[in-house]
Amino acid sequence: MTIPYGRQSIGQEEIDAVVSVLKSDFITQGPQVQVFEEAITASTGAGFAVAVNSATSALHIACLALDLGPGKLLWTSPNSFVASANVGLLCGAEVDFVDVDETTFNMCPDQLAARLEEAERRGALPDVVMPVHFGGEPCDMPAIGALAKRYGFRVIEDASHAIGASIGAARIGACGHSDIAVFSFHPVKIVTTAEGGAAATNDADLAARMIRLRSHGVTRDESLYEGAADGPWSYQQIELGLNYRMTELQSSLGVAQMRRLDEFVERRHALAARYDAAFADLPLATQVRAPGSRSALHLYVVRLDDAARRRPVFEALRAAGVGVNVHYIPIHTQPFYRRRGFAVGDFPNAEAYYAGAISLPMFPDLAEADQNYVISTLTSLLA
Ligand SMILES: *Cc1c(COP(=O)(O)O)cnc(C)c1O
Repeated sequence: MTIPYGRQSIGQEEIDAVVSVLKSDFITQGPQVQVFEEAITASTGAGFAVAVNSATSALHIACLALDLGPGKLLWTSPNSFVASANVGLLCGAEVDFVDVDETTFNMCPDQLAARLEEAERRGALPDVVMPVHFGGEPCDMPAIGALAKRYGFRVIEDASHAIGASIGAARIGACGHSDIAVFSFHPVKIVTTAEGGAAATNDADLAARMIRLRSHGVTRDESLYEGAADGPWSYQQIELGLNYRMTELQSSLGVAQMRRLDEFVERRHALAARYDAAFADLPLATQVRAPGSRSALHLYVVRLDDAARRRPVFEALRAAGVGVNVHYIPIHTQPFYRRRGFAVGDFPNAEAYYAGAISLPMFPDLAEADQNYVISTLTSLLA
């Protein structure tokens, strides 16, 4: 039996919710999608939420809604899943990265400021910057938001790890320092819809545009029509969109999961506190959590002081039935990105972090006995 690094927690309420949708009139996008979107706005404080079939889709329509396209530039974090950068390329824009801070593993606001100063001199400022709340730990959004005002770029938070996280009293998704925040509902994330994602925003026009983009660029809003409606059956396609809709099955699962969000994040904090205490004297570093913020704790990463030991320790943990993982191989070192001109050495902090990183099991249903086994196994390996 392997203890996974992440796993969904599905209760009877979730099962009943999905079964009742199966017996209802709607199974594709219908009333449950709106209920789920309302649960997201209620929890995050966002004005609007647009639910779609994945976070990748949500990031894509967020970029499209901000007019990211050919001749435009997206900056994101190299310490992320490839989707964060891919969506910029899918829009036809160029992509670049801003290195991470060595202690938070998040996009470094000082490096961002320095890169912006230099980009302004070259006349090559980004159009959109996408910080990633790595592991659920909020990026320094007040600093990034201030830079956005000064340099005139838009901000999309890749909050795939961070539903339930907050900065001060503001939940991630409240978008106080950004245009759009995107959540993932993949089973290893904080709450799940099996596959799914959502984009939160306070801007009604951006929300309306993302609602259109998730469904082919088609509208039934007659005030947006060119010319008169053909009849009561009318719809018009007014821009190019996709089919990124979320189903009723997924949404009903999401509604039931959102009721457990706070309980899930609480449990993750309790588990993290046990890891923190157990590892205090081991030769490793953990992600620094900012005092004024609350992480959603999607991941619990240990960064071994001696990167040469990462592979043997990883392999020994796997052999012992501890399903560790690594987050993330720096995006710019992937073959596809190297073919586009990036090279090993471009973002040294992300690379140095990656070299020592191991993600340990962290999910609400992780039993303390199993966590104790993870702790004792890692402790004896590093002793
Ligand atoms: C999981 C993840 C995504 C993609 O989410 P999907 O819902 O699987 O499309 C994007 N960015 C980050 C940082 C992620 O962890």
